[in-house]
Amino acid sequence: MSETGLHHVTAFSGPAGRNLDFYTRVLGLRLVKKTVNFDDPGTYHLYYGDAAGRPGSILTFFPIAHAGPGRAGIGETQETALRVPRASIGWWAHRLVESGVRHEAPVHVFGEPTLRFRDPDGTMLALVGVAEGGAAPAWAGGGVPAGHAIRGLHGVTLLLAEGEATAAILTGVFGFREDGREGTATRYSGGATPGGHVTLRAVGPFLPGRQGAGSVHHIAFRAADDAAQAAMAEALRDRHGLAVTEQRDRQYFRSVYFRESGGVLFEIATDAPGFAVDEPEAALGEALMLPPGLERHRAEIEAALPALA
Ligand code: ZN
Repeated sequence: MSETGLHHVTAFSGPAGRNLDFYTRVLGLRLVKKTVNFDDPGTYHLYYGDAAGRPGSILTFFPIAHAGPGRAGIGETQETALRVPRASIGWWAHRLVESGVRHEAPVHVFGEPTLRFRDPDGTMLALVGVAEGGAAPAWAGGGVPAGHAIRGLHGVTLLLAEGEATAAILTGVFGFREDGREGTATRYSGGATPGGHVTLRAVGPFLPGRQGAGSVHHIAFRAADDAAQAAMAEALRDRHGLAVTEQRDRQYFRSVYFRESGGVLFEIATDAPGFAVDEPEAALGEALMLPPGLERHRAEIEAALPALA
């Protein structure tokens, strides 16, 4: 089995300009694509990642100016963790304070130094210091020096009533294996870097989450190509009895979606074609990019979108 992991994490946010400022200026990620929600073209879809927007480095948002806040609960992603060099955790604690972002006291989670905080909409984030972090490629164009820059996703934590059925999908379909337990949390690793970890936190019956600003809408796993994606979809249908959508062309990857047994919306996204398919890598994120089907509506779409600072 090849290495496997997350492709991207997608959340709802409040105003687009505030979201852009936080992820590019405070966290120093690169805006790798500025497009619209293909299912709702009056809304931006902003993609942040490393310099090339590699699979496993991507966080995406649907910003809605007047979105009500979400409520954390079961059947949702509780926390999204990002990788930084292990020696940089102290630097980041200082940067967050300087930027007016409150963080929790640093803790060790599965042996790794972890700094938890929230984005301006309440999305729970963590920076995790990893020993090999400094060797990974970094984006230094956003004001965070390359030596400290975020190196993509570390993983996500899902809050569930019980974890067995979700664990069976991770291990039986996506090729993850259990690599640690702490309290109510069990961590699974797919081996890919970045984005190789999914932690299941099983807490029993509890209030379900309600989606809104600050909520993660779905998480996406990587598929090497269409054939690998089709094989996973078949296993999900045949062995787990789950309804999987037909493949949808998302311009930068091709996707299928299903709601896993614990209630979380999962996507499987292909590595290809990537973010340089419609603009050069050097100019990623600078222009509003629209898929061919929406290009003829560009004038109306641009008029309806809020200005980005
Ligand atoms: Zn997605």
